Amino acid sequence: MTTGCEPLLIVGSIAFDDLDMPSGEHKNVLGGSATYASLSSSLLTRGAVRVVGVVGADFSDDLLSHLQTRGIDTTGVERAPGRTFRWHGRYSSDLMNRTTLDTQLNVFADFSPKIPAGHRTSPFLLLGNIHPKLQVDVVEQVGRAKLVAADTMNFWIEREPAQLAQMLRRIDLLIINDEEARQLAGIHNLVRAAADIRKRGPKALVIKRGEFGALLFDDAGTFFVPGYPLEDVCDPTGAGDSFAGGLMGYLCARGEASPGMLRQAMFFAAAMGSFCVEGIGPERLLKIARADVAARMTSFARLVDHGGELVLPA
Ligand code: AMP
Repeated sequence: MTTGCEPLLIVGSIAFDDLDMPSGEHKNVLGGSATYASLSSSLLTRGAVRVVGVVGADFSDDLLSHLQTRGIDTTGVERAPGRTFRWHGRYSSDLMNRTTLDTQLNVFADFSPKIPAGHRTSPFLLLGNIHPKLQVDVVEQVGRAKLVAADTMNFWIEREPAQLAQMLRRIDLLIINDEEARQLAGIHNLVRAAADIRKRGPKALVIKRGEFGALLFDDAGTFFVPGYPLEDVCDPTGAGDSFAGGLMGYLCARGEASPGMLRQAMFFAAAMGSFCVEGIGPERLLKIARADVAARMTSFARLVDHGGELVLPA
């Protein structure tokens, strides 16, 4: 039984990014894990997304209103003295590789997420890529949620293995990319790496593989969703966060996190990731409407429709 749309709380970075793309440079682009995840999930929910993060004095009220017009509750966004978190990345000519040129933590350095009282009962929680200790602090403030999902990155896998291990014990779903899964498990084969990671806490694990799709491992088995094939890929920044936002947005819109619902959510996640890469920064996510998402889902369903059972001919 589905119970309808339930609140989704997203905690993560809110940033200004400088993006060096093969097509040219883009400065001061709105970014951050919480930004992409909340924009993506807000297209699948109706006003149920709450975001918690920190911005500096250089982050205009207009930018926050942009998120609010998408139905995102920004009352949990703290404004601190100083500059907003800044990230500078450069992509290879085929957009397959990215190098971080500079990370300025700024107000993010002292960030300690304070979940507003009204958000502490959120049944769905998405912990964007922040220090694993802060992710645990958030879980403790929120209490019992229906589903706690988290992202992490190589930086924390290398530098904070003990804190990361604690975080893994507190979550239900880990959403990471293939490189991170291999590094975390110390195992190259993804099926074996997934089994190893699931023993450390999260019952479910999603491994994202960019344009090559994504795998879900849970108690119901292994599931795969392809990457939606696109003619024009513009900028992969935020695709992973948009994927996670799409996945959690769909689950919160349906009000449950059963294995069947997770499998459907994988398609919405891949669709939202595909929209994200079609523009520089979040520009495409900011332009599309629910009708665009519905149209992409129809075309996605056609993409994987094989027209019947796959039975070996006699
Ligand atoms: P993705 O492409 O999905 O990995 O997300 C890219 C976004 O992550 C960019 O908008 C960056 O601002 C943000 N980001 C990059 N490095 C970090 C970091 N160390 N902590 C939090 N967010 C980050």
